[in-house]
Amino acid sequence: MSPAIVSPLGPASFAKAEAVLREALEANGQRYTEQRAAVYRHLLATDSHPTADEVFTAVRSEIPDISLATVYKALETLVGCGLAVKLTYGDGSARYDGRTDPHPHARCLACGAVLDVPGHLPNDALADLGPVADFSVEGYRLELIGYCNTCRT
Ligand code: ZN
Ligand code: MN
Repeated sequence: MSPAIVSPLGPASFAKAEAVLREALEANGQRYTEQRAAVYRHLLATDSHPTADEVFTAVRSEIPDISLATVYKALETLVGCGLAVKLTYGDGSARYDGRTDPHPHARCLACGAVLDVPGHLPNDALADLGPVADFSVEGYRLELIGYCNTCRT
C-alpha cells in the first residue's frame, strides 16, 4: 500500500532532512508526525513550487488516508518553522517552496507555473530604488513574468 518514494535526494539526504525537520518542529513546540515528514520530503524533492492540492496528490501515494486539510496544516507548520516558503498571488492562490534561501522566481502568465531563476541581483540593487517614505524596507521579492515553454507554443 505504501510504495517506496524514489527521490533525487537519495537516502542520506532524506535522513538529514528528517533530522532538520525534527529539530525545527521541536524548536517551535510542534510534534513530529509522519504526515509532516512526508509533506516536507515532497517539498524538498521537487522544484515545481506545488500548490497544496498538488502536494496532497503527491503525498497520498505514500499516505493514502491523509486529508487535504492535514496537508494544508502541515504546509503552514513548515512555513511557520522556516522550513518552507509560501508564495502568494493576487488571485488568492498559493504555492510552496522547500527552498528557503532568497531567490527570484519566474511565473507563467498562462498556466501559473513557477520556476526558479538561477541568478541573483547584486546586493546593492535595492539602493537604486531609493528610500521609501514612511516605510522600512526589509527585502524584496522579484518575480519575472512571461510564458513557460508549454504555453508559449
Ligand atoms: Zn505555462
Ligand atoms: Mn523557488
